[in-house]
Amino acid sequence: MSLINTIVVAGGTHGNERTGVSLVQKWMANPECYSALCKSAKVDLVLSNLEAMRLNRRYRDHDLNRAFSQTCLDVKAVPQQYEFRRAKELNEIYGPKGPNTKTDLILDVHNTGSNMGYCLILSARDPFCMRASAVLTQEFKNAWIYYQPEERSASPYFGTVAKADICIEIGPQHHGTLNALIFEESERLVKRYLELAEEWNRGELQKRPPIKVDVYTQWRDLGYPKPQGGGPIQAMIHPEVFGYDYRELREGDNLFRTFDGKDIPFKREPNDPEVLHPIFINEPAYYEKDIAMSLTVKTEEEW
Ligand SMILES: [Zn+2]
Repeated sequence: MSLINTIVVAGGTHGNERTGVSLVQKWMANPECYSALCKSAKVDLVLSNLEAMRLNRRYRDHDLNRAFSQTCLDVKAVPQQYEFRRAKELNEIYGPKGPNTKTDLILDVHNTGSNMGYCLILSARDPFCMRASAVLTQEFKNAWIYYQPEERSASPYFGTVAKADICIEIGPQHHGTLNALIFEESERLVKRYLELAEEWNRGELQKRPPIKVDVYTQWRDLGYPKPQGGGPIQAMIHPEVFGYDYRELREGDNLFRTFDGKDIPFKREPNDPEVLHPIFINEPAYYEKDIAMSLTVKTEEEW
C-alpha cells in the first residue's frame, strides 16, 4: 500500500465480543480519543453487527464474519437473513470489495476465549500490516502474529472489503463480557496502529530497520473426536494443551481426553510437518463449527 487514506476501526462484527464493541462506542462518544492519531487519513468507526450486539450474541441468523465472500455479496435478491443483508450494506458503505474499494485499511477488533493474547491476524502480506504488526510485537509483550493467507475475493471476512486488514483477536475473555485490563491494553494497541499508519504516510515506518518476528501461519483446522458417521464429541482438549496456544505440538503428544479419562495423542496426517503450533484452542464459538483448534506452522522472518 502506498498511502493509507481511509481507515475503518470496527467493533461488534461478533456481537458478544465486547472489547471492540465498547472501544468503538467510547470513541464514537469521544472523538478526541482517536482523531489526532492519524491526521493524514480519514478514520471511520463502525459497529458491524448491531442486532447481535443487542442480543449479546455472536450473530443473529448467520455469522457476519462469514458473509463477505464475493459470492455472498453478489446475490441479487434481498437476503432473508439479517447478517447477509448487513454484509451487503457494509460493503456498500466501505467497499465495494475489490480493487475499487473506498477503504484502504480495516482494523477489526475481536475477542477469543482462547489464551491467545493480542493476536494480530494478517490475511495478506501487505507491507504496512507486516511492518506495523512487527513493531507491535516489540511494544506489547503478549502480541503475536498469525498469518492466515486468504484469496481475497473468496474470503468471508469483513476485513477483506478493504485493500488491507488486520483482525485483532484478543483473549482469553469470556464472550459477552468485558475485562478492564484487556480493554485498556486493546485501546492502546489500536491507537498504535493509527499512529503507525500516520508514520507510514510520512514515509518513516518504511525506514525502520527490519524486525525479527515469529510468524504463525495457518496450516489446518482440527475438529473434536467424533464417532464415525457423526454424533456428539467424544473428548475434550487435553489439560496439557488447554491454555497453551502457540506451543509446540508433535506426534504422540497428548491432545484430547475422553470423558472416561483416556488420553488421545496427536497423530500427524501424511502432509503435516513434524512440529505444529495450535491456536484458538477450545474457542467457544468454534464448537458449532467443529473446530477444536487451528494448527499453524511457525517460521522466523524479518518484517
Ligand atoms: Zn470474532
